[in-house]
Amino acid sequence: MKIGFIGLGNMGKPMSTNILKNGYDVTVYDIDKNSVELLVGQGAKAATSPKEVAAASDIILLSLPNPHIVKEVVAGKNGVLEGIKENAIIADLSTVTPKTIIDLVPLVEERGAKILDAPVSGGVPGAKAGKLTIMVGGDEEVFEKCKPVFETIAKNIYYVGQIGSGLKVKLINQYLFASNLASVVEAFALAAKAGVDAKKLVEIISNSSGSSYALKTRYNYISRNNFEPGFQINLMLKDLSLVLSMAEDNDMPLLLGGMVHQLYRLAKRKGFGEKDVCGLLLAMENINEVKFPR
Ligand code: NAD
Repeated sequence: MKIGFIGLGNMGKPMSTNILKNGYDVTVYDIDKNSVELLVGQGAKAATSPKEVAAASDIILLSLPNPHIVKEVVAGKNGVLEGIKENAIIADLSTVTPKTIIDLVPLVEERGAKILDAPVSGGVPGAKAGKLTIMVGGDEEVFEKCKPVFETIAKNIYYVGQIGSGLKVKLINQYLFASNLASVVEAFALAAKAGVDAKKLVEIISNSSGSSYALKTRYNYISRNNFEPGFQINLMLKDLSLVLSMAEDNDMPLLLGGMVHQLYRLAKRKGFGEKDVCGLLLAMENINEVKFPR
């Protein structure tokens, strides 16, 4: 199996490194030439377009910033579809809407190829450690063919169901993480106003019903006054727009989701877009003129 990898960013770099480490032949492409060179230094082959990656690969993995870029890279000029081989597979690891991938299915199948949505969770540390969670939608036999490659980047690998279903789970996960964290930082601002001891608060709540992954992982950052990403507020904003668009596609009002989205936008407006998601606390402190003790 020859592997293609397009999008060598914070996630794509460590993922392609891990695929290479497992002995695969990997051809890479990114608009950023430095990233390509870095991977070539680790044994990858460089391509000059997505088309060239596709022509050299049996499985083409994508890790790209947003739906527009995924569409362009797959179906645009010099895109994957211009070079794809019959029976090849595109597995999109990016976070986009289910509709983005569903719309590509007829174009991919016209070429005798297949596509899976395969978004990941676990952030840059998970990508570096090869311990991501991956949730996959599409034909099960196509998933089975990709599984050995997924095993090089992920510890938890789930086949969810039909095309788009991996992304549905991923976006619901993003919605939950974003909204859990929004209530954590508002609660921290309230604790500060009310004069509650921060360390005791977190210790007790970690063993009580108010605990969450958001509280446990992000207090670690906050207690060290570290707001470097991690997972950027700007990326979470993008994911929350996708969540709202998924609600729109399903004609469903997402009341809390809308409010949470606006909170993250406010944090961006306050200048914290490039901070980790827990930088939402900085916006909350600013609005409430209070500081949660570090
Ligand atoms: P990133 O911005 O660091 O990387 C994206 C890469 O895509 C960049 O290297 C960029 O140069 C490249 N790129 C942009 N346009 C391109 C094009 N037309 N052709 C080829 N390459 C192009 O983003 P990331 O953090 O690596 O995230 C990638 C995807 O994974 C996103 O969809 C994100 O939501 C998702 N994700 C990120 C995390 C995280 O913690 N960062 C976690 C889970 C999922």
